[in-house]
Amino acid sequence: MSVSFFLPTKVLLDEDCVKKNAALFKIMGKKALIVTGRHSARENGSLQDVTDALAFVGVDYVLYDKVESNPTIARVRDGAAFAKANGADFVIGIGGGSPMDAAKAMALLACQDLSDDELFAGRYSPDVLPIVLLPTTAGTGSEVTQYSILTNDKAQSKTSIATPLIFPKIAMVDAKYTHDLPLKTTINTAIDALSHSIEGMLAIKANSLIDLLATDSIAKIAQSFDKLLSGNVDAACRANLIYASTLGGMVIAHTGTTAVHSMGYSLTYFHHIDHGRANGLLLAAFFNFVEKQNPAVISRLLDIMGLPSITAFKNILDRLLGEKEKITAEEFKKFTGISILAKNIANCTVVPTQEDIYNMYVESFS
Ligand code: NAP
Ligand code: FE
Repeated sequence: MSVSFFLPTKVLLDEDCVKKNAALFKIMGKKALIVTGRHSARENGSLQDVTDALAFVGVDYVLYDKVESNPTIARVRDGAAFAKANGADFVIGIGGGSPMDAAKAMALLACQDLSDDELFAGRYSPDVLPIVLLPTTAGTGSEVTQYSILTNDKAQSKTSIATPLIFPKIAMVDAKYTHDLPLKTTINTAIDALSHSIEGMLAIKANSLIDLLATDSIAKIAQSFDKLLSGNVDAACRANLIYASTLGGMVIAHTGTTAVHSMGYSLTYFHHIDHGRANGLLLAAFFNFVEKQNPAVISRLLDIMGLPSITAFKNILDRLLGEKEKITAEEFKKFTGISILAKNIANCTVVPTQEDIYNMYVESFS
């Protein structure tokens, strides 16, 4: 047996964890750069909780609240310049994956001058601002990963910064911030988390410890299918989903993602399809593809979800995701050419060819 596990993030998953752990902000620095999206952090109470905690322990802050979904390189450069201009010495990211990923890239760029190519090249000096993250969607798991995923116009896709330097020092995970998350975002982000744990189990770096985390994460999300389908997402379900998404983050921190994510990035880049939805649209075709060479692993994944067949899984995904976008064969050819270049294509135990990728796109939208 071979197990490798590394998570330098202190994970505090608890009700009112910000208030209970306010003293930790004092250890992080003297002046925080708080990074959020435009609206939700104000509305769900997370920003107020953080600023109250900072005031309580006497730590100053500046607010950068302009992060849009699927943040661009220009956005994180702007935030990093703002951090430098204001003398911030640590970063607090609050929001879905977009503000959390932006916060990580800003923490890096505030300390290092990197060209766009260097930003994704993986060779950095050790300097980075310490990072604290609070998720307010239950999906990306970014609060416990070493990835920051940015819209990259040069690659016409989304590209990852991947370095242990941007592991958050602290993840504060409180389901209460997700209580008013709209149903559509709840579904899309839950499917993103499901995809992380499933792809992690199919990745070449999977090991028995990661398997435990992935299994619990997949089971918890599958137990929520009925509530997601009925739209009756109660507090207990929200708690399960955020727990499952943080586990999913721990999974991909160790395994990376696979073809589903690489293929999904084109759907987001060219058709503005939400990240989790993009993964969900592709998952059943990926199951069919993997099953041809490894039926045992697919049978196990279906067992964990308590489902009898891939058709039953596809049926649930179809009902959760609703009507599909119309995409042409020409576009699928273009997307195939882009996604085959992504590193995570070769990260699955069953590696798809260019033709397999094209066929999965076509099957997913037929
Ligand atoms: P998101 O783009 O962060 O947020 C989507 C929408 O949800 C925004 O309009 C946001 O509003 C709103 N929102 C967030 N929290 C809310 C709340 N509690 N209540 C109501 N609305 C809320 O979506 P996401 O799916 O969480 O993140 C997607 C990004 O994460 C993508 O860029 C993806 O590539 C990345 N990702 C990263 C990792 C990783 O390991 N780093 C893994 C997977 C995905 P505001 O804009 O007003 O906040
Ligand atoms: Fe994802």
